[in-house]
Amino acid sequence: MFEIEAFDDKVTCVKTATEMAGNAIMWVYSYLIDKTLIDAGCGNAKEELWAYAREVGVDRVYVTHTHEDHVGTCALLSQQATIFARENQIPILKDPPEKNEFFAYVWGSIPPVSKIEVMPDDFSVGDMTFEVITLPGHSPDLMVGFYEKDRGWLFSSDAVPLPSRKRIAMDCENVVQIVSTMEKILDLNLEVLFDAHRGPVVDPQDYIQTRIDFLKDVRRESKALHDKGRTIDEIVSHFSFEAPWYMEMTEGRFSIEHLIESLIFDEP
Ligand SMILES: [Zn+2]
Repeated sequence: MFEIEAFDDKVTCVKTATEMAGNAIMWVYSYLIDKTLIDAGCGNAKEELWAYAREVGVDRVYVTHTHEDHVGTCALLSQQATIFARENQIPILKDPPEKNEFFAYVWGSIPPVSKIEVMPDDFSVGDMTFEVITLPGHSPDLMVGFYEKDRGWLFSSDAVPLPSRKRIAMDCENVVQIVSTMEKILDLNLEVLFDAHRGPVVDPQDYIQTRIDFLKDVRRESKALHDKGRTIDEIVSHFSFEAPWYMEMTEGRFSIEHLIESLIFDEP
């Protein structure tokens, strides 16, 4: 599935998803500013995104991280645009790891990208300057975001969890670091958070703070129970978080246990 939505006269939301029973399983947002695209959508909508990119003449693509819902169209886009990624992300994009069946279904496959340039420290689009900032915690390839200071904009990718109460985590996530990254984002006093799954969030302070508060509460309680000698399984049962319908199918990539373990043992 593919949808275009103007945010304002500068930014266009470019949404891609896989359809299930007439609905998007989950939208992922790329953002177009003039001819610059931030992230490259999911593989299952690559033909539509590629057609749109040709129509508007996309000539640069800045990738935030290498998760499959952000880089699905990079290979096609590289035929007409320069793809930028962090140096450590380039080998992953050139030789993407196999995903399990569930993730291949939800997002689609990622074709390897042969031509990629190293991400600069900042870049300009028209009169706007975007500083590349690291947003650690969500992805071990060290996700980046793009900060336009004058406008108070941050293209934050997956730095802020989608649910207000994050109850599952990926095996590669450091949830304590995610909280600390959100605190740094709050300090930027943003006007707009351009989230990769929620879309643009205007005046995002409460939106971010709610997510920080929830995870800090779970951390405090988990650590207290752990100090009393409770096992991870017991702590997980204590919270009685409901697993989403798809969790089994992720084969361990997402779990409640990982959220709790990360909150107890990880450091920012
Ligand atoms: Zn991600």
